[in-house]
Amino acid sequence: MNSVRLSRSVLGKEEIEAVTRILEEGYLGMGSEVHKFEQEIKGFLGTSGFVSCVNSGTAALHLALEALGIGPGDEVLVPSITYVASFQAVAATGAKPVACDVIEESALIDLQDARRRLSGATRAIMPVHYASNTDSLEEIYAFAVENKLRVVEDAAHSFGCTTQGVKVGVAGDVVCFSFDGIKNITSGEGGAVVTNDANIARHVEDARLLGVQNDTEKRYANGRSWDFDVCHRGYRYHMSNIMAAIGRAQLAKIEHFGEIRRKLAQNYIEQLSGFAGIELLTMDSSPAIPHIFPLRVLNGQRNEVREALGHEGIETGTPYFPNHRLSKFHTEYRLPIAEKLGEELLSLPLHPMLSPEQQDLIINLLKRQLVGA
Ligand SMILES: *Cc1c(COP(=O)(O)O)cnc(C)c1O
Repeated sequence: MNSVRLSRSVLGKEEIEAVTRILEEGYLGMGSEVHKFEQEIKGFLGTSGFVSCVNSGTAALHLALEALGIGPGDEVLVPSITYVASFQAVAATGAKPVACDVIEESALIDLQDARRRLSGATRAIMPVHYASNTDSLEEIYAFAVENKLRVVEDAAHSFGCTTQGVKVGVAGDVVCFSFDGIKNITSGEGGAVVTNDANIARHVEDARLLGVQNDTEKRYANGRSWDFDVCHRGYRYHMSNIMAAIGRAQLAKIEHFGEIRRKLAQNYIEQLSGFAGIELLTMDSSPAIPHIFPLRVLNGQRNEVREALGHEGIETGTPYFPNHRLSKFHTEYRLPIAEKLGEELLSLPLHPMLSPEQQDLIINLLKRQLVGA
C-alpha cells in the first residue's frame, strides 16, 4: 500500500537543535528569539517596514483587522473560496465577512462581484493569494483606492513569493502570513503581520501581549513590563521562543524548499496540461513558491477521482468548501462560480519530501482514473 501525504512539515536536525537550545536556555515564551526571527524575516523580504510575529495566521488576520479599527457594524469583502480562517478572523472582530464570488480560471476574488457587494459599511477587502497566485494584486489595490477600502492580504499561501519584482509583504497595506505546520515554512504554529504602517504595527505588538503597552521591547530583552498601561483589548497571541527557533531554522531552508516545490508544480503542469477531464488553474506569472497544487476535475468526477486515488494511498484535498454555504456564514445570495469550484477543486500532493517516483505514480493514477471515468 502506498502512502503519499498531501502535505507535511519537513524538519531536520537544525530544527531539533534550535528547539533544544531554547529548552536549555530555559526562556520559552516571547523573548529575544522572536525578535531575531522578525529581523530575519525583514531581511529575507527586503522590507523597511514592520514584522510582528504571532501564534497563528488566523491571529495575524484578526489583529490586522482590529488594528485597522474594523469591528461591529463593519463589512469586509472576502472570496468565498478560502480556508475558513479568513472568515473567522473577520467574525472575531465583530465585523461581517461578505462572501464574494471568484474567478473560474484562478479561484481569486472576482472584483466585479465584489463591486456588487459594496455597501456603506464596507471597510476593507481581504484578497486571498489562492495557490500562491498574487497576479491580481494591482487590480485589487486599484479597487481599494477607488472605494476607499483598506487591504488585508491573506498571504497564508504565499510566504516567500514575489509580486511585481518584490517579495509579497513589502509593498502591501497589511499582509498576513501563516507558519502553520504545512505552509511554505513552519514555526510549529505561527504567523506574522507585515506592514509599512507604524500605527498598525504598534497596535498588533501591544494586542498580541494582552494590550500591555510597549511590552514587546522588554520581552525582546527577555524581560517584561510590571509598570504599564493598557488602552485597548488584548490577547495571548504572541509567538514563543520555541516557535521562533523552529521558524528561524526553516527560514534558512526556504530557497531549497522553494526550488523543490516549483519543480514539482512545473512537472504537474507539464504532465497534466491539456489532459481531458481536468482543467489546470492559471498559475502566478512570477516565480512563486507554490503552497498547494489544486486543479479542476470536470464532469462531476471529482469525488470519484479522489476516492480512487485514496484507495491507492494517495491523499488529496478539496480546497475549499465555499464559506458562504457554511451554516455560520450562510448567505441568501448564490455565488455560482465558487459553488462550482467547490465541487471541482482537487489538490494533489505537494511538499518538499514528495519524490519524483511518487509524483509519477500520482500522475499516472490520476490519468488512468480520468480515462476510465
Ligand atoms: C493556513 C491558512 C490560514 C490560517 O493560518 P493558521 O496559521 O492556520 O491560523 C488563513 N488563510 C488561508 C488561506 C490559509 O491557508
